[in-house]
Amino acid sequence: MEREVESMREYYDSGKTKEASWRASQLEGLRAFLTDQQHDIFHALMQDLGKHHLESFRDEIGTLIKSLNFALKHLKQWMSPGKAELPRIALLTSAEIVAEPLGLVLIMSSWNFPFGLSLEPLIGAVAAGNTVVLKPSELSSASASLLASALPNYLDNKAIKVIQGRPEVAEQLLFQKWDKIFFTGSPRVGRIVMSAAAKHLTPVTLELGGKCPAVVDSLSSSWDREVAAKRIIVGKFGACAGQACIAIDYILVGKEFASTLVELIKVWIKKMFGEKPSESNTIARIINKQHFFRLKNLLSDPKVKESVIYGGSMDEEHLFIEPTILVDPPLEAAIMSEEIFGPLLPIVTLEKIEDSIKFINSRPKPLALYVFTKNQSLQGRMVSETSSGSVTFNDAILQYAADSLPFGGVGESGFGNYHGKFSFDTFSHQKGVLRRSFLTDFWFRYPPWTTTKFQE
Ligand code: NAD
Repeated sequence: MEREVESMREYYDSGKTKEASWRASQLEGLRAFLTDQQHDIFHALMQDLGKHHLESFRDEIGTLIKSLNFALKHLKQWMSPGKAELPRIALLTSAEIVAEPLGLVLIMSSWNFPFGLSLEPLIGAVAAGNTVVLKPSELSSASASLLASALPNYLDNKAIKVIQGRPEVAEQLLFQKWDKIFFTGSPRVGRIVMSAAAKHLTPVTLELGGKCPAVVDSLSSSWDREVAAKRIIVGKFGACAGQACIAIDYILVGKEFASTLVELIKVWIKKMFGEKPSESNTIARIINKQHFFRLKNLLSDPKVKESVIYGGSMDEEHLFIEPTILVDPPLEAAIMSEEIFGPLLPIVTLEKIEDSIKFINSRPKPLALYVFTKNQSLQGRMVSETSSGSVTFNDAILQYAADSLPFGGVGESGFGNYHGKFSFDTFSHQKGVLRRSFLTDFWFRYPPWTTTKFQE
């Protein structure tokens, strides 16, 4: 591994990856990989997670092609030095900001969107001109194997390598010296990454998880209610069966609107996944037995079990968990303190919707906050009185696809961000460049310090 890392560093030093044409060719290579290998990607995602190919296209292939097109369109502009203003006293002086690649970077990704979470940061890393080692999650093994076997046919193998393996391999990788580590995963491993990075003072971006709340205000029009219910279902059960860092974790709703919302969600679950969701191929499966039992355990507390008002059936053989709704589970239970990461949806009722602000602020800062409301004053309060990686009004997940918005967490949901230009910046050093002319010079700026100079 050490030799491999060393040879990649030498390749970086050759300057090849800094060329604009090299960067564009790698982005084009990634796009070709996604289009040529589409069917193998669908197959891998079906094997790993039982994802329907339309969901795979929407969340991984399509979203990545969109990001690649955006990066290719803006690459030149991102690479161009930015002008910097100077005070008027700086006569005959100019300044600019030059984005320089960081060097050799490590990207470690998670299993729930094995292509999206590996390649979205890779787009930023190659656009910025770095050499990259990608370590996909071993849990989505079919996807990791496809990345390792097929990507070399499309990319410069001296600059971009996929290294597969279990956590021990990741530990060995973390032992090496990197110029940047971009990590997507759990806060537990995030801490391991940060400690390893500290040894070499390597900068890190941590894309972590947490509990993302959806606040649902009383909606008066039946159209708005239905649209909200559909978007909530897709933002929970339709996002890899809730195994998404920005999936809705739980709902906060005012008492007077709770039963209307629950009934609508039930109706639309049936419409989307059928009377027997276990027979539906439109809902993803749980990644493995360990996560299946983790989710099962979340329901094992008798008081939590009592709060289940819909669903709850589980099929261990097929790693399937039915979309499940709980109303007012005990707030001290694990299901209300740990990230759920699965198709269990607790709904917490509050006296009034404004109480949600205090509720959110009493817990770790979420990666995403969703608020379904037409009330402008509530929207304003949510933005200014709570803290989260992002806030989305009247929808869920959609913010992930916005190239113009930074995607990342705050507090325990992580730090640093990416997507669009933010990805380019995440993998670049912003170098200040100042150019001075010899023509003007002031005698009073040089020692010795005399009273005359002070008066001048
Ligand atoms: P994880 O932390 O278990 O694994 C992530 C990566 O770390 C994998 O590549 C894995 O091989 C590696 N790893 C595991 N144990 C390690 C160890 N001891 N030492 C070094 N490396 C190790 O996370 P996961 O189960 O893959 O993903 C689930 C978590 O990721 C959830 O908390 C979720 O919210 C979060 N997540 C965040 C985002 C985001 O964009 N913010 C996206 C997806 C998932």
